[in-house]
Amino acid sequence: MTLQQAAADFASLSDTLCSIVGAAHVLTQASDVAGYLEDWTGQYSAPALAVVRPGSTAQVAEVVKLCAAEGIAVVPQGGRTGLCGGGVPLVGQSSIVLSLTRMNAVRTLDPAGRTVTAEAGVVLEKLQAAALEHQLIFPLMFGAKGSCTIGGNLSTNAGGSNVVRYGTTRELCVGIEAVMPDGSVINALTGLRKDNTGYDLKDLLIGAEGTLGIITAAVFKLFPEPRARSTAFLSVPSLDTAIQVLNRLQDHTGGAVVAFEYMPKAAIDVICQVFPETRRPLDEDAPTGILVEVASSRPRDGEPLEDGSIRLEGEVMALLGELMEEGLVLDAMLAQSEQQRGNLWQMRERILESITDNGPAYHLDISLPLAHIAPFVEAMDPVMAALGFQPLTVGHLGDGNLHYALSAAAGETWGDLPLEAAKDQVFAKLTELNGSFSAEHGIGQSKLPVMRDLKEPAQLAIMRRIKAALDPLDIMNPGKLIPDVKKNLREDIE
Ligand SMILES: Cc1cc2nc3c(=O)[nH]c(=O)nc-3n(C[C@H](O)[C@H](O)[C@H](O)COP(=O)(O)OP(=O)(O)OC[C@H]3O[C@@H](n4cnc5c(N)ncnc54)[C@H](O)[C@@H]3O)c2cc1C
Repeated sequence: MTLQQAAADFASLSDTLCSIVGAAHVLTQASDVAGYLEDWTGQYSAPALAVVRPGSTAQVAEVVKLCAAEGIAVVPQGGRTGLCGGGVPLVGQSSIVLSLTRMNAVRTLDPAGRTVTAEAGVVLEKLQAAALEHQLIFPLMFGAKGSCTIGGNLSTNAGGSNVVRYGTTRELCVGIEAVMPDGSVINALTGLRKDNTGYDLKDLLIGAEGTLGIITAAVFKLFPEPRARSTAFLSVPSLDTAIQVLNRLQDHTGGAVVAFEYMPKAAIDVICQVFPETRRPLDEDAPTGILVEVASSRPRDGEPLEDGSIRLEGEVMALLGELMEEGLVLDAMLAQSEQQRGNLWQMRERILESITDNGPAYHLDISLPLAHIAPFVEAMDPVMAALGFQPLTVGHLGDGNLHYALSAAAGETWGDLPLEAAKDQVFAKLTELNGSFSAEHGIGQSKLPVMRDLKEPAQLAIMRRIKAALDPLDIMNPGKLIPDVKKNLREDIE
């Protein structure tokens, strides 16, 4: 079917869609749909037959059934902050965008059971605020928190800064509600922490980027609100030393490190260039800078000491003194107020925007075993420099995740640089060091080629079979996450 034919056929379906979700929520005018067709990076955009905005799980199910019957692709979409082109249509595809943003209710919060049940379109920051009203926290934390939705967080298995303590979105989720590609509804919103009744379909949908179904609601774990926090910026001699510092802090505080972020000088330079009001955390720039936060919910840790500081801060300060004497920390700045803490986090959260503003860059989102982080960076940085790139690296170092962004070195022109050769070098090193080419953000469209090349063929084949079993018509976000889904499915079946 040509796109023109699809559009003509769609016109006749439009009435049915309007009867399901209401005419005001079926958007077809160019000016109404424009904002839904492009992702945050601006690199991926394509037309859709319509943007449909259901207000309930039942409406999602009706829309999916209709699309299945008509062979129209469904592109689920949350806050559109994904960085891999997963939440926008493909060029030449006959699809609708299914925006979950109207489904934005926090359905229930159980303070005793420390769980919250929320709809997929709830913005992450709103969920955090709802938890705080009960002196609880929802610990998922990253720069897009004001726009991304929990449906998107689940579908990309989002990580962020607090994974070192609380885990990824997958580890935070204890129940899911979803509409499957045939329109059937899975209601597994029990919130049970133990439920050994066969395959965990929740885990299948988390990280599936909308290719297996539409998440409509979920249950998440909540945690006690910290009574005390200690946030510091450290200069350390090397990445290897940074890992030693992390472990010493964990040992000293009973595993209370909630964030351990790598922020080298090159990254801070770019932030200061794009946001000149940024205060550098240390007088002397740190080649290896670490933003660390330790938090405790124990009342004792929040007690004030004689000098006015709180106990946790005092303990962290004492340990940092020891580490400085041992040469493991060169310099340190401890946030003395909520304002200073906020400034440090604002600097961290501005990095992606700063790199984007700085000029063209290729963003590699990788992870490695902690012991292999230093060997990777020490091996790759000189290779990239020799090819004409300047790596602008930051990372959630505590969980082994590096955002390794390749920008043009001073005096180089982006278009002339050998990007493919650089990527090959990085991927070869990652393979050698047991790393992953995709730590956060998902695969979407942008990482399909490397998924095809590097994902273990046996695992890819199983993914294709799962996709074929659950979505035989390939209507759920086709062309994302799994490379060559149709071609290889046929090969698998034959
Ligand atoms: C400044 C900035 C900082 C970021 N930092 C981080 C970070 O530290 N860690 C991290 O992990 N990510 C980070 N991201 C990436 C992004 O915010 C996350 O991937 C986020 O989880 C996407 O949520 P979203 O609601 O915007 O999803 P979208 O971008 O709308 O969609 C993302 C994917 O999920 C699918 N999807 C969305 N909703 C549903 C649903 N209800 N059911 C099924 N599929 C669905 C879409 O089809 C798409 O494939 C950052 C992005 C920005 C812009």
